[in-house]
Amino acid sequence: MLKVSDLDVHYGGIHAVKGVSIEVPKGKVVTLIGANGAGKSSTIRAISGLLKETSGDISLEGAKGNLLKKTPEEIVKSGVVMCPEGRRILPHLTVEENLHLGAYIRDDKEGIKSDIQWVYELFPRLKERSWQKGGTLSGGEQQMLAVGRALMSRPDVIMLDEPSLGLAPLLVKEVFDIIQEINSQGKTVLLVEQNAFAALKIADYAYVLEVGSVVLEGTGQDLLRDPRVKEAYLGG
Ligand code: ATP
Repeated sequence: MLKVSDLDVHYGGIHAVKGVSIEVPKGKVVTLIGANGAGKSSTIRAISGLLKETSGDISLEGAKGNLLKKTPEEIVKSGVVMCPEGRRILPHLTVEENLHLGAYIRDDKEGIKSDIQWVYELFPRLKERSWQKGGTLSGGEQQMLAVGRALMSRPDVIMLDEPSLGLAPLLVKEVFDIIQEINSQGKTVLLVEQNAFAALKIADYAYVLEVGSVVLEGTGQDLLRDPRVKEAYLGG
């Protein structure tokens, strides 16, 4: 279980996350939905240890202490990894080199080799393109590579920032199918999405963020039926 309590994030004078508390139970898919600027990315970037002006408590089962006091590398080592928005893959490196980078905290060569094969099974398209430079992949393929690279740290919890952003509908479905597959293979998923419908459909539990605060929470199914969610995020 990953538990975030009273998280605050500031960027100078901007108070982006205001006392957010969320729970991500082991083995589940939890999603944060909300409009642009609601504080979704800031929440998972704080969990990743990437932000400076934070307060609150983030605990992870099996890890000692407050994650907010740890470095990004320590957080990855404790089993929590983020796949950032905008597919920050390295364009001049091949697909396979990008995957190797995701394993930078590991030194078990054999394990890394077999995990690359596992990522190729999840994403056959990446296998076909293992020697292609990351920057020449299509948007959807780059997204798959970004997810694959995050998986290479062998995380317990994978946090995905808007994996469907900019993808054609068919690819959105493929990416969400893969998220479910990753979850069914035992990974806990924290998913940040603007595509509320797709995210709620696969989520065990969901939180709605508005201007930095959680305003609504419930199971994915309950929120799909909630009139407030329908009105604001599902197009009425
Ligand atoms: P989006 O879906 O547009 O990414 P979001 O819900 O993920 O939105 P955040 O990216 O967390 O929202 O942004 C929350 C608020 O913090 C916004 O007002 C944003 O402008 C601000 N913010 C985010 N990053 C920075 C930064 N590096 N410096 C200053 N303000 C920032």
